[in-house]
Amino acid sequence: MNMRLNGIGMTSQRTRQRMIDRLRDQGIRDEAVLAAMYEVPRHLFVDEALASRAYDDVSLPINYEQTISQPYIVARMIEVLRDTGGRPMRRVLEIGTGCGYQAAVLAHVFPEVYTMERIQPLYERARNKLRDLNIRNVNVRYADGSAGLPEWAPFDGIIMAAAAPAMSAALREQLAIGGRMVLPLGRQEQWLYLVERDERGFRESRLEPVKFVPLLMGKT
Ligand code: SAH
Repeated sequence: MNMRLNGIGMTSQRTRQRMIDRLRDQGIRDEAVLAAMYEVPRHLFVDEALASRAYDDVSLPINYEQTISQPYIVARMIEVLRDTGGRPMRRVLEIGTGCGYQAAVLAHVFPEVYTMERIQPLYERARNKLRDLNIRNVNVRYADGSAGLPEWAPFDGIIMAAAAPAMSAALREQLAIGGRMVLPLGRQEQWLYLVERDERGFRESRLEPVKFVPLLMGKT
């Protein structure tokens, strides 16, 4: 038996379990989300120099002035998305792939994930990472996601990882009836919002203050 490798494995298990315990303390209750966050190797999505901090409750740089969201906000957004009272959710859209971490967590709890990234090197790295991890139910797109992905709509869930100044009607329209969208809105001061769609229309609720990178236009 290779003691050194075994040791690393044990440490990683303990570190991941500490993250899960902390998420529970912070109020995350959805066991499927907690299980997915335990499974996905977050340290493989950040630079090696930052890997030792990957399971801390912080956002970390992923280059090009972008960040991987802190574990709490990833868990919280997916928990809110899944809180449908039992209605099954199949197809989900993420806007802002970044390093692909949140897409990997989404892939553990939803059958079909689409994710869009406007910065080409991030897009390529995320796509390769997800492929290396053998995560096959994520479709990664190099595109400006601010207008969503109408050709694959409707979505049961939409999750935005970058903050828009205002709610987009085009995006809302891509929700299925019964669908839910979780997104940060605002510039300096940002809040997390939930949009729910039913037969009669849309309902918006403001959840909690957040801090996201801005949603930007065009590809680069
Ligand atoms: N979910 C990501 C967080 C990435 S940060 C993760 O787990 O790492 C937000 C990302 O949104 C950045 O990579 C940024 O380039 C991207 N982004 C910003 N505006 C966008 C747009 N209009 N379309 C697609 N991606 C966008």
